[in-house]
Amino acid sequence: MASSYENFVNGQWVESETNATFEVRNPARTDELVGEYQDSSLADVEAAVEAAADAQDDWAGTPGPERGDLLKRAGTLLEQRKDETTEALVREEGKTRAEAAGEVQRAIDIFAYYGQKTRDLGGTVKSASGRNTELTTRQEPLGTVALVTPWNYPIAIPAWKLAPALAAGNTAVVKPASEAPGMARVLFECLEEAGLPDGVANLVTGSGSDVGRPLVEHQAIDGVSFTGSTAVGTQVAQTVTDDLKRVQCEMGGKNPTVVMPSADVNEAVEIVGQGAFGTTGQSCTAASRAIVHDQIYDEFVDTMVEYAESVDIGPGLDDPDMGPHVSESELQSTLEYVEIGRDEGATLETGGERLTDGEYADGYYVEPAVFSDVDNEMRIAQEEIFGPVLAVIRADDFEDALSLANDVDYGLSASIVTQDTTEANEFLDRIEAGVAKVNEKTTGLELHVPFGGYKNSSTNTYREQGDAGLDFFTTTKTIYRN
Ligand code: NAP
Repeated sequence: MASSYENFVNGQWVESETNATFEVRNPARTDELVGEYQDSSLADVEAAVEAAADAQDDWAGTPGPERGDLLKRAGTLLEQRKDETTEALVREEGKTRAEAAGEVQRAIDIFAYYGQKTRDLGGTVKSASGRNTELTTRQEPLGTVALVTPWNYPIAIPAWKLAPALAAGNTAVVKPASEAPGMARVLFECLEEAGLPDGVANLVTGSGSDVGRPLVEHQAIDGVSFTGSTAVGTQVAQTVTDDLKRVQCEMGGKNPTVVMPSADVNEAVEIVGQGAFGTTGQSCTAASRAIVHDQIYDEFVDTMVEYAESVDIGPGLDDPDMGPHVSESELQSTLEYVEIGRDEGATLETGGERLTDGEYADGYYVEPAVFSDVDNEMRIAQEEIFGPVLAVIRADDFEDALSLANDVDYGLSASIVTQDTTEANEFLDRIEAGVAKVNEKTTGLELHVPFGGYKNSSTNTYREQGDAGLDFFTTTKTIYRN
């Protein structure tokens, strides 16, 4: 029998006021119940925000290194639980074992990184106001923050919001995605064991409408950091901005890889294929468009088809190349886009079928799909699919490729595969994307550098990760002392 998990409010594991729960099942074997979580409501949000607001002053007054040591201890505890957490992540979200292990390691590293960063906070500033006035600036915590996270990186993203928030002296309420709330719970168990003071971080599970929305709208919340779809993020940003609160929304992508004739086709296919089909295409940075120069287009498509057909699909615990979708609705959305692509006149070269036989019968499996003859105006070239569907678009030359790459509403990640340095530099200068890469897949990020998007991929105010991650959670006070 699967465990039933509680909210974490004011240092206690508690049931929701609603007494209701919701189930999470293994996307690779839907007969396996992974856990039951609190289906919370407004009263639970109120209690969590109140606890966080009450704890804020003391936490802000706790010396930075002390706050950092707590984060480091939590990271060490997570490291001790790495194998079991990796397995739980696979069962909950469907990632392959290798992908899940990488993600858990990222969460461990993030806690260590921001744990250390608290030792760099503050500093001295030269006075610029003459002999009698000392002029300095101070980074103060924003206050009590709401952190709303998606299911596709269910431990790394809560970690990359919570760690800088706590490091900077904020208190927080986390609302994880309902498809995969268990990983945030593990972070909280580690924080609790590491000695987290009551109220400093709180966890409330439940739906976007009953928990997410009242949380971000709560008057005692001073800042909102959201990651998720552009549709929900836009709504969140508009609501929160109306209250003049600080908000950061990191959202969807439609990420291109441009492939030029100087590229080795096999290498280019590997780069695009990993970006397109890794994490079952369920990454905000997934390569969903390959924009390929006419000279090598046909060869690229043939080789890409071979690549897609060689992708080993299966339950994440067997560590295949690609696991299932997270849910029936995400799988159905991918299948719908395959139909849309066909109806729009693109050529489905391979894949796009649901797998239902044998070991696939009880999971949300789909074959990776490759479309050729894709026009950039088509919906499959413009809309985020969030599944393993690649649109291969023909470009006449570099200028055409660049213009096609930029001709979308999103701007998260982009890459070019080329041996021509001038072309690469030109691409880096002119691509409209928050992350731009040369001869690398669009997915994959380092934790110490800023991450965020252009256009509809981001509210474009603050970046996440690295020092930028701390900027969002702090506000500057300028001090004149005469
Ligand atoms: P989502 O449906 O937008 O949900 C994100 C979070 O918002 C979930 O916790 C959700 O709760 C909550 N939510 C839903 N409605 C809300 C509302 N009205 N007010 C406040 N919160 C609300 O996104 P998702 O399906 O979980 O994640 C996939 C999306 O995230 C993709 O578009 C992907 O590109 C994007 N993403 C972006 C980045 C990035 O850094 N740019 C990283 C990862 C993912 P429920 O789960 O309970 O509905």
